[in-house]
Amino acid sequence: MLETLRKIVQEVGSARNLQTALSIIVRRVRKAMGTDVCSVYLLDAKRGRYVLMDTLGLNPAAIGLVSLAPSEGLVGYVGQREEPVNLEDAPQHSRYRYLPETGEEKYHSFLGVPIIHQRHALGVLVVQQKIKRRFDEGEEAFLVTIAAQLAALLAHAQISGSMNLLPSGKFSSASFEGLPAAPGVAIGQAVVIMPIADLDSVPERLSDDLEAEKVSFLQALSWVREDIRAVGAKLANRVSVQEQALFDAYLQMLDEESLGAEVIKRIEEGHWAQGALAYVVKRHVKYLEKVEDSYLRERAADIRDLGRRVLACLQEGGEVRQEYPPNTLLVGEELSPTLLGEVPKEKLLGLISVKGSSNSHLAILARAMGIPAVMGLTDLPWAQLDGQQIILDGYRGQVITTPDERKVRQYELFIQEERALTESLEAEAGLPCVTRDGHRIPLMLNTGLAADHVRALSYGAEGVGLYRTEVQFMMAERFPSEQEQVNLYRQQLSAFSPREVTMRTLDIGGDKPLPYFPIEEENPCLGWRGIRFTLDHPEVFLSQVRAMLRASEGLDNLRILLPMISSVREVEEARALIRRAWSELRQDEGLPLVNPKVGAMIEVPAAMFQIQALAERVDYLSVGSNDLTQYLLAVDRDNPRVARLYSGYHPAVLQALMHIATQAHAARIPVSLCGELAGDPAGAILLMAMGYQGLSMNLASLPRVKAAIRRVDVPQARELLARVLTCASTDQVVGHLGVFMNELGLGWLAGPKG
Ligand code: PEP
Ligand code: MG
Repeated sequence: MLETLRKIVQEVGSARNLQTALSIIVRRVRKAMGTDVCSVYLLDAKRGRYVLMDTLGLNPAAIGLVSLAPSEGLVGYVGQREEPVNLEDAPQHSRYRYLPETGEEKYHSFLGVPIIHQRHALGVLVVQQKIKRRFDEGEEAFLVTIAAQLAALLAHAQISGSMNLLPSGKFSSASFEGLPAAPGVAIGQAVVIMPIADLDSVPERLSDDLEAEKVSFLQALSWVREDIRAVGAKLANRVSVQEQALFDAYLQMLDEESLGAEVIKRIEEGHWAQGALAYVVKRHVKYLEKVEDSYLRERAADIRDLGRRVLACLQEGGEVRQEYPPNTLLVGEELSPTLLGEVPKEKLLGLISVKGSSNSHLAILARAMGIPAVMGLTDLPWAQLDGQQIILDGYRGQVITTPDERKVRQYELFIQEERALTESLEAEAGLPCVTRDGHRIPLMLNTGLAADHVRALSYGAEGVGLYRTEVQFMMAERFPSEQEQVNLYRQQLSAFSPREVTMRTLDIGGDKPLPYFPIEEENPCLGWRGIRFTLDHPEVFLSQVRAMLRASEGLDNLRILLPMISSVREVEEARALIRRAWSELRQDEGLPLVNPKVGAMIEVPAAMFQIQALAERVDYLSVGSNDLTQYLLAVDRDNPRVARLYSGYHPAVLQALMHIATQAHAARIPVSLCGELAGDPAGAILLMAMGYQGLSMNLASLPRVKAAIRRVDVPQARELLARVLTCASTDQVVGHLGVFMNELGLGWLAGPKG
């Protein structure tokens, strides 16, 4: 049964439209249960009626015509009760209603189960038989399981628009609530990004027209080849000859003599092109993943990637080259950070992602780049929005589709107000970051992409407090070479010289995957992340540290920061590798390098309780409040379902931050903070009061935080801190902060209201 169930769900999942999906359901369920009839009714929300959408056994002419209100018939009864109805002789039931169009009078036994998603009935799945009998427990459980699986698929399909019940047409104006991920308002045109093709969900299918299958496969192959050549050419002057050879290897793998030939052979055996491709690719991947040789093992990822590209072409029936309008709003189920590099900077106005939350890395990058974003819009019919005008409100986490003129005018006004606010803040951006009573707190910049250092310096940034080196790794198609890293790091170090630049060693894993080095784990946030990964791959760590050191030659403003530290042993091992890289470069190559300061991130709760021991082994501490909040509250920072539980203002988080500052002072080690909390004006005031000696934030936050700090004095900030530290709930803390900011006349720093 389990295998049958799995197959049905998989087939339905890869159906191209609703009708095909429903037809698969009724055929497969009828066969698996050996019944005379299987029918599916879906609720048409507008009419409030269950419509017969497909059937095998009842009169097919009734499909789409017969419908029942929830108060009518047994189908309505199942929907109302939200429970299965299992009857030996249905016509005897008081709710039975005879529908002559269906020809169902000859069927006696009836089993109907509701299809429910998130507490709402979407439809009813029914099986019927001529003989009088009650379906047994096992049959009932099977149908309930199928209905539960289908509910999720149908809900997703309806929401994503990939299987729309309603006739296609322009999507009407509506407002959708998500999570504010990056501040700002934008009015633009939606460009929908479809997910990458999934090799695992291609069903096995035989084809009657093998010639056509072959032609479409060869056509897809040639499009992908052309694409790879184009990417290779684009990178020709940025990578070495050896690296260029990688693209040739890709092209060879696709050759009709190798992978291509195997797919053709399988098609000739009777399979359709998509199935033949998925079969061959998966077989190679499985084999390669098992081999000893690590080079060959990594080729598995290449082959999977190539397979996906060819599959995408086969599924789209053509080449997909995206054109971006000048006011692009990227919309997708799960946007990847790579896209940020693909859309020309001047054309990208905003990001709208169904998955993710304000703490995911895409959100952090969006904030760093000053691009408004909304995430966690689980109800957005994203696939239907391509080309439509959309308003994105990154302050309130709202998306308005096809807005009327009045709304557009209202938001245009917001945009003007915001420009005026930014200009007024910029006017004081060059002034020092001191409180009214003369306490100075350095503000630094968080970067990842090439930073706008001219603006950062004009805003008075006193260096870089966090350079997320993984961003470049995430944007690339393979690990960047040492020399490529030297060039990138040198740009950062010289742009900010003589100010210090804190470079964090590679922090991948968790919610920061590398497209070319997939790490599949049950629980990635508790898995092979940050320093754990790099200590297991000393060749990656050493090459990165050497690149940082080489880049710092003559500038001497490098600080190295270690992410995800949870024990002193990790610090000792990392420092030993750094020392090795440093002395090799000095002794073997004679580079006149100074010893960089090395720091540890405090972002795993365990590290909070080892401040003294860590302080004996590093030169400074930097608190990562984003991960610390995630781990303290046990709330995945990337999961929209629990995003409302995630807050840096949770009393436990504030107590933890206070504890770290106190312990660091006692251990006489400098402590700063580089999580998102530092970029929030109220958060910055609290952190200053706690005694943090530096705050690092994204560019857009710098002027706002500075404006806030310049308008308070230390006793006021301490009084506020004392008040919030006694609060029992996040709401109370937020309430106090709101009152404080308004009393100081700083409410406007939260952005335009409307
Ligand atoms: C943090 O966790 O607070 C942090 C600064 O690191 P990241 O957001 O890159 O994980
Ligand atoms: Mg972190």
